[in-house]
Amino acid sequence: MDYQAEREESLYNESLNQGEHFAQQCRQFGNHEGAQQPERAWLTTNYDTQVPNPHYKGAKAPHPEEYPVCPVDYAEYFKQEGWDTKDSGCECKECDPVGWAQADAEYSTDPDVDDCPF
Ligand SMILES: [Zn+2]
Repeated sequence: MDYQAEREESLYNESLNQGEHFAQQCRQFGNHEGAQQPERAWLTTNYDTQVPNPHYKGAKAPHPEEYPVCPVDYAEYFKQEGWDTKDSGCECKECDPVGWAQADAEYSTDPDVDDCPF
């Protein structure tokens, strides 16, 4: 790198505030680390945060701390990873129709019937 380019990069880095600097570090980490592990959708930084891997080419993957993961939202990813949709723990209306039907049966939708005990 020539002197001028080095100087410009240095000035640029100094112009960043702490948040921008942190974000840039995370991006650089993701870019570097992700190139070595392209099969991983998310990478853990030294700050214990997760960054998306720009080199990952698989199905849209849920954030590692996302739970439950809805197999409807991530159908492709569940297939790719061979995950069982029954164990997802998701209670959305599409994943748990029986639970929702029970809840509907227990709680009347009739506006004249007041379920509220208070
Ligand atoms: Zn769901």
